[in-house]
Amino acid sequence: MTGIGMTSARTRDRLVTRLREQGIADPNVLERIRAVPRHVFVDEALSSRAYEDTALPIGHGQTISQPYIVARMTEALIEGGAPRKVLEVGTGCGYQTAVLAPLVATLYSVERIAALQLRARRAMRDLKITNVFMRHGDGFEGWPPYAPYDGIIVAAAAMAVPAALQNQLGNGGRLIMPVGPDREQQLIRVTRRGDNFEREVLGSVTFVPLLQGLG
Ligand code: SAH
Repeated sequence: MTGIGMTSARTRDRLVTRLREQGIADPNVLERIRAVPRHVFVDEALSSRAYEDTALPIGHGQTISQPYIVARMTEALIEGGAPRKVLEVGTGCGYQTAVLAPLVATLYSVERIAALQLRARRAMRDLKITNVFMRHGDGFEGWPPYAPYDGIIVAAAAMAVPAALQNQLGNGGRLIMPVGPDREQQLIRVTRRGDNFEREVLGSVTFVPLLQGLG
């Protein structure tokens, strides 16, 4: 395939079919996967692979997340009612941001590498997504001024949920995050009930590490 064929509606539909077969059921999530042009988030040299269900390099030692994982995390976040105010940690190129933004009222997104954040900002503008606020900062600290959040989604793994993120979760809010050492990470969902934090394990995953400080 060449040119437009690589990014055609049929190619995207194939990806959606695959995710559905793998258990993604929420029609709004599947529609976002179909609608978001993943090829604009990767280098042109990789655009022929943009609708494969794999992570791809985006520079700075980082990756664009696998579509299945983006869909799974989005679904886990919005299950039983979409949160209004959401914090995303690890904007990267902004693919997850673009999938999630129209499903929530406001999305606050933090990224430690300035060049990636700039790229994500441009992508939101090009895609006419206007309910995303971005910050160049360390996601370990969350984004206190807008807390509490109804949902928090973290795109990089740590050994434990950072205390600041847990504290910035509102009552009834949900946090989706990969936790654990390299090659043994679990995707977890934490639901806050007052001072209790209920934890569910959603499955095994592989993410880049959540790093301290600015990049
Ligand atoms: N959400 C992206 C995936 C990005 S990969 C997508 O849809 O493809 C994870 C991102 O987390 C990287 O861009 C990395 O720079 C960022 N990151 C790692 N540690 C961070 C931290 N402490 N604060 C903010 N961003 C962080």
